[in-house]
Amino acid sequence: MNLFTGPVFDMAAEQFALVADHLSIPEDERPRLLLPKRAIAVSVPIHRDDGRTHVFQGYRVQHHLTLGPTKGGTRFSADLDIGEVAALAIWMSWKCALAGLPYGGAKGGVACDPLSLSRRELEAVSRRYMQEMIPFVGPQIDVMAPDMGTNEQTMAWFMDTYSMYQGHAVAEIVTGKPVAVGGTLGRSEATGRGVAFLIGEALTCCQLVANQCTAIVQGFGNVGRSTALILRQEMGVRVTGVSDHTAAFYDPKGLPINQMAAYVAKTGVLKGWSSEAETDPATFLTLPCDVLVPAAVERVITGENAGQLKCRILAEGANGPTTPDADRLLDQRRNEIFVVPDILCNSGGVIVSYFEWVQDLQRLFWTEQEVRDRLQTILKSTFNAVIGRAQKESVSHRVAATAIGIERVRMGKQWRGLFP
Ligand code: NAD
Repeated sequence: MNLFTGPVFDMAAEQFALVADHLSIPEDERPRLLLPKRAIAVSVPIHRDDGRTHVFQGYRVQHHLTLGPTKGGTRFSADLDIGEVAALAIWMSWKCALAGLPYGGAKGGVACDPLSLSRRELEAVSRRYMQEMIPFVGPQIDVMAPDMGTNEQTMAWFMDTYSMYQGHAVAEIVTGKPVAVGGTLGRSEATGRGVAFLIGEALTCCQLVANQCTAIVQGFGNVGRSTALILRQEMGVRVTGVSDHTAAFYDPKGLPINQMAAYVAKTGVLKGWSSEAETDPATFLTLPCDVLVPAAVERVITGENAGQLKCRILAEGANGPTTPDADRLLDQRRNEIFVVPDILCNSGGVIVSYFEWVQDLQRLFWTEQEVRDRLQTILKSTFNAVIGRAQKESVSHRVAATAIGIERVRMGKQWRGLFP
């Protein structure tokens, strides 16, 4: 019986099979590349504020340790399951290899709704989850980072919990932590900055000019909010739509992203920001725009709506926003829609996480400008490699990006051989 099931895992497996066919990888080699090395499930008991004891389910999946420690985010979300976590770990592997980082992929999280927990309860979940993971993680084994539902505060609690057990501060156990405890400058906005930079590269390929373009962003958390802010403030893009899980807003004249970000900083959600610009979330992604940025959850661009997208560029800030059915339709629309696939588009986060880990190991910290310059250098060459490969082999950008990632992992495994 396969432990890893569910629509998100099936999606990662189907994408892998497509690329493995393209690369003519023999059948008997495929499970070793696809299946995770380790999967850990833990119980996370806490005292609720009302005195009851509640047990949450926690997971961590480490996909491969061939090229270095594993690296990946921690997701707090109500319906998290191990199939989804495994899929996200697999995508992290191809993403890290594509960017040339010395990591395998990992992912983890707790099946809980962070918005329904008090701050004290969230801290209890975070600390107990990390405590349960101590035998399986370490700066040279597996390094966690934030993802949906977690943030720099969660990482600070993780770092403190791990450090208390070691008896000294171990900043390099997590990335995405506050600068005050060994985080790097530029990490909190890194994913959004990377998405915005790659949108800039894609605009150039499509011969479009940023300040004459519009963008719609789904998700207004870490990735969506910073992407929208950088597009608007630094690139002059008119952001006509933003949404979160509570509301969607659209104004063809452009939305005041700054004000909306300030509103969300106060209230936590977009709901209630305005009644005039509110729009139907069901048709939000098919509204007209030059750049569409899904930056929330998986599987939002499907066989149903991919044919109706009215964007010129699809920049995937989220992990796995596009299903294989949608990919087939987007493939037919290759001349109309320029796709920046997730493992390239949102790789700014893990690239700057890598910078943070390197700085922590060396106890030598960089300026924000150094972080930004190094990020852009990697993103630019990775973008060019993906576009060049796609053109050369007449494949989609997603197949090209995944092929580069898989090839690098495969090469590592071939050189190292099979132990014992
Ligand atoms: P977050 O928790 O900070 O924000 C998530 C946002 O999505 C929130 O605004 C939430 O309201 C919204 N959302 C949730 N469900 C939605 C729905 N059905 N429709 C519309 N909006 C919805 O999470 P994040 O860190 O910004 O992550 C977003 C995506 O980006 C995830 O797929 C994550 O895996 C990916 N990602 C994050 C990072 C990172 O550095 N944080 C790096 C790479 C990829």
